[in-house]
Amino acid sequence: MSNFVIPAPPLATVPVEGTAARFPVRRILCVGRNYAAHRREMGGDDRDPPFFFTKPADAVVTPGEDAAYPTLTSNLHHEMELVVAIGKGGTNIPVGEALDHIFGYAAGVDLTRRDIQNAAKDKGQPWDASKGFDRSAPISAIRPWTGPAPQGRITLSVNGQVKQDATVADMIWSVPEIVAEASKLWALAPGDLIYTGTPEGVGPLVRGDTVTGEIEGVGSLSFKVV
Ligand code: MN
Repeated sequence: MSNFVIPAPPLATVPVEGTAARFPVRRILCVGRNYAAHRREMGGDDRDPPFFFTKPADAVVTPGEDAAYPTLTSNLHHEMELVVAIGKGGTNIPVGEALDHIFGYAAGVDLTRRDIQNAAKDKGQPWDASKGFDRSAPISAIRPWTGPAPQGRITLSVNGQVKQDATVADMIWSVPEIVAEASKLWALAPGDLIYTGTPEGVGPLVRGDTVTGEIEGVGSLSFKVV
């Protein structure tokens, strides 16, 4: 197909460790409130289960790129997250089969316009402008992976100062549970990315900040806010 009335949008892609071939991004799902300590710092009720929201595929900011400070916010926040890269699609995927659908993992940051999100919460409005804005999804290279999901340390620093330091194993929904839950709501397909939620310690970023994040065994990312 090359017969379009306007230029076709470029495909968003993410590098993959150990190969020149890239991972094509179909869409980005995100989990909210998947760590108890973060749910508390956001004022959430301890009984509320995690939930999903989305970002557009072309929100990815890949290694070597800067993140642009977005318009219409004065409270941009970092949220360090393990990212699942789906390699095999499905609907109603059983928890016990979920790992078979995963191509690999990456380290990601769910950038958030916290002031717009708080206003949306107050008014019962959607989160799109607070979460799904342009260049809101920095991500590392994807590490191909088989076997049990990562469980290790997850950290984020701003200008060398540690802001988030937690353990992926503390997620409320585990990686297999996230894949299973997502596949009840959407038909998952190769190319889907799932940001799995952030631990406690989220906070503001300003122009000029250098953000570095690492997930034990998975990888690291670094970007500047310009
Ligand atoms: Mn998040």
